[in-house]
Amino acid sequence: MTRRRRLSFPALVLLVSTLILPGRASATDACTAARALALWRATASRLHDLLGGPVPPPPRILIYREAQNLPNREPGLTVIGSYNLKSRQIRVSCSNGAVPVFDATLRHESTHYFLHSGIGRIPRWLDEGLATTMEAGSLKQGTPADHVNEARLREYLDMLKFGIVPHLADVMDGHPLALTPSQEYATYWSLVFALMYNADPAIQERRRALLCRLLATAALTKGNPGPAVERVFLDYIDRDGGDPHDWEMRWHREIWAFR
Ligand SMILES: [Zn+2]
Repeated sequence: MTRRRRLSFPALVLLVSTLILPGRASATDACTAARALALWRATASRLHDLLGGPVPPPPRILIYREAQNLPNREPGLTVIGSYNLKSRQIRVSCSNGAVPVFDATLRHESTHYFLHSGIGRIPRWLDEGLATTMEAGSLKQGTPADHVNEARLREYLDMLKFGIVPHLADVMDGHPLALTPSQEYATYWSLVFALMYNADPAIQERRRALLCRLLATAALTKGNPGPAVERVFLDYIDRDGGDPHDWEMRWHREIWAFR
């Protein structure tokens, strides 16, 4: 496992090994190897700016024309992209040329690759939360509103409306949440979004520093990093002068303000 470091890096070596597979997207589609390369490059560069850590060599990216061509171990769910920890391959569906979906999926899976290459094991909420945050509008400087993932926001607002949001402790403890997969991802998004972006620059700076500490803790923890990461988060809340319930309320109010 490579430890995370905050170092300066030589220019990225961008030699994405991208295969277009049988039953595959053609070069005339928007889902090209060049586009995949550009998306990986932008995502890795933004993550490095935000979180530090080494930029790994480019991943191997397999592009499929349609979601049903992707290997899928989750029956009943349509998987449009995946990152395989063992083979370190990104598989992404062209979704019949739906560019926004292809782009968001590639940014999502590129984030997993970036994190797992630099850190190793990482709590699911943090891993999926960062990946969903990077899905949309998170690659440029801007206000928090510029970085909102509209689809995830809408889902989380509905959950808030119907009172089905899980507690912070339940999100962090790693047990499956009593939610649909999509609601689960919306929850992880909203928590990581609240840590990454805030209208108050001082709060944003403190929370981003926390995010970096959480990732550094995961990198330094042997075995399951969940409990150690949760302790660092709870210490932060304690020093911030609140308790987990107050912090949870503040997090929900901040997300609700984007409706
Ligand atoms: Zn994911």
